[in-house]
Amino acid sequence: MKLSTQIKIIDFINKHIPCFLDDFITRKIAKGTYLSQVEFHLVDHCNLNCAHCDHFTPLAKEYFADIEDIVNDFKKLKKIFDNIGKIYIVGGEPLLHPDLLKIFNPLRTLYPKSEIIIITNGILLDKQKDEFWEKLKEYDIALSMTHYPLNIDYLGYIEKCKNLGIKAYYFSLNRDKMQKMDLDIKGSRNKKRAFLKCTRKKCHFLRDGKLYVCTPAPNIKFLNEYFNLNFKLNKTDYIDLEKIKSASKINKLFKRPIEFCKYCNDEDLSYDKYRISKKELSEWVKS
Ligand code: SF4
Ligand code: SF4
Repeated sequence: MKLSTQIKIIDFINKHIPCFLDDFITRKIAKGTYLSQVEFHLVDHCNLNCAHCDHFTPLAKEYFADIEDIVNDFKKLKKIFDNIGKIYIVGGEPLLHPDLLKIFNPLRTLYPKSEIIIITNGILLDKQKDEFWEKLKEYDIALSMTHYPLNIDYLGYIEKCKNLGIKAYYFSLNRDKMQKMDLDIKGSRNKKRAFLKCTRKKCHFLRDGKLYVCTPAPNIKFLNEYFNLNFKLNKTDYIDLEKIKSASKINKLFKRPIEFCKYCNDEDLSYDKYRISKKELSEWVKS
């Protein structure tokens, strides 16, 4: 089966079929060498700082990733996964990184068929020079804008991308429905139930040569450091790409709850209105 056909089928599966079936069919079609998606932080901090941010970005110190380190991580990943469906360049706000454009070429070279997408809140779009838009087009990098309650002409940027032949996505934020994390500091939740209900378990995350099933586990350090807490990350909560090099084994591990799931909500999700973070513990932890 042609690679483009595989990718189309797998993308359809990702959108329409429940997780357990998705993993089964994905393994069958791509013989385990396909990872549905992965994201990485180009920066840890953000210029917006939303309450409930599930990357704990309002609490993170200013950090700009080294482009060479990111490329090395993707080289390791390439030895394991031939194909990745979607690669998300995230943060924090990735447009804060002064060398953002330097990541396009190496990522596109390693993964010519992947959809590579920048996720932005749009604040810095009006500061981007022509080169930014030209490079998005040249390397086929998509722009995904989340519509926060800001005075930004998001739809104007969609139009601009359309005219320039750049892929663009737009998510309208429901301002009354910011999903709360409600972490349990005691770690007494039911791991299996939390994993089953989890909406983040496909947001695989790459950092420092390690692959994580989701984004909260690797970024919990920002919460720990800011509030002097001790949410523990277990060695089995991530894959060290030097140690586990089997794609099918990684895909299998990503189907099961990790130890860290004991901190996550295992009940119905709760929501809050959109607001800027006051850096209060209750934005992330259930009181
Ligand atoms: S814009 Fe995104 S990354 Fe920044 S604080 Fe809000 S949710 Fe987090
Ligand atoms: S630790 Fe488990 S339940 Fe929590 S976000 Fe990650 S995969 Fe989901």
